[in-house]
Amino acid sequence: MKSKILEILEKRSTFVSGEEISKELGISRAAIWKHIQKLRELGYEIESKTNEGYKLIKTPDSQIQYELERLLNTKIIGKKILFLKEVDSTNNRAKQIALEEKEGTVVISEKQTSGRGRRGRNWESPEGGIAISFILKPNVSPERAPQMTLISSLALVETLNTIHNGLNAKIKWPNDILISGRKISGILTELSADMEKINYVVVGVGVNLNSTIENLPENATSLEIETKEQVPVKQFLKSFFNHYDKLYLEYLNGGIDQIIERWKKNSDTLGKKVKIIGINETYEGLAKDIDENGALILETNEKEIRVYSGDVSLR
Ligand code: ATP
Repeated sequence: MKSKILEILEKRSTFVSGEEISKELGISRAAIWKHIQKLRELGYEIESKTNEGYKLIKTPDSQIQYELERLLNTKIIGKKILFLKEVDSTNNRAKQIALEEKEGTVVISEKQTSGRGRRGRNWESPEGGIAISFILKPNVSPERAPQMTLISSLALVETLNTIHNGLNAKIKWPNDILISGRKISGILTELSADMEKINYVVVGVGVNLNSTIENLPENATSLEIETKEQVPVKQFLKSFFNHYDKLYLEYLNGGIDQIIERWKKNSDTLGKKVKIIGINETYEGLAKDIDENGALILETNEKEIRVYSGDVSLR
């Protein structure tokens, strides 16, 4: 019964009256109150107001991990979850355990003290954000590792657009997700490999879920800002892991082509004039396409070039 009450509360971001719950589940209001007390003892924060009812404020981390592992029916992604209260960086922790863990294991935290972006840049983790690192071990050659960034960005953008109709989240090549030109997520893919074989890829995804505008860096946004609704962490993770799992299985079974087609449909970059800033050089041109390994095909005044994601920023 406790889980049924939780299900009802999770579906709504507003108060649900005791009467409504009582009707739906066929139990008395006194019984509901007792179950609510038990949930609170487990660490759930539930607000109650006379005449309004109950509202779920927060699910405890330990319960998120337990419920996700129990509720998910994915084949690879999230079979094992490490939910940490605080960590320096989820990618660091994932890399420490990657060799001994199975692929699909995820490290999650709502608080990173030294979140990283590419090339030593910082990823800020203000309240309301979440960082998720996926450990993957695809049996492909190391130059294909950037395909993991393509899969991850597509899984996230499709999740966001499913959670909220009309959100129009888009992928900025190679590793950001934008809504109305503002960054809601950044992806950091790190590789351990020898000449022919990938040992593991760790893909870190930072998402501004319920962060407020005051806490975010410039040009950033959050899901809450865009939808004007709080998104429960558990609901988001469940949807994201389901999308990710499906895509990753499609990739393992059928290759990258169909994923690239879907990636292109969600791209904010292709068809635009862009400026690419590398360590030693800058290119300007039309972002024409991406190749099967995720490199950007850029048409400059002189020629067509392929730009690899590693060391460039796109403006
Ligand atoms: P760009 O190509 O836009 O310069 P990038 O994709 O190379 O950026 P990353 O290295 O992935 O950037 O991420 C780090 C950058 O993201 C930081 O320099 C900062 O501008 C921005 N950033 C940091 N934290 C957040 C956040 N929580 N939300 C949105 N943007 C952030």
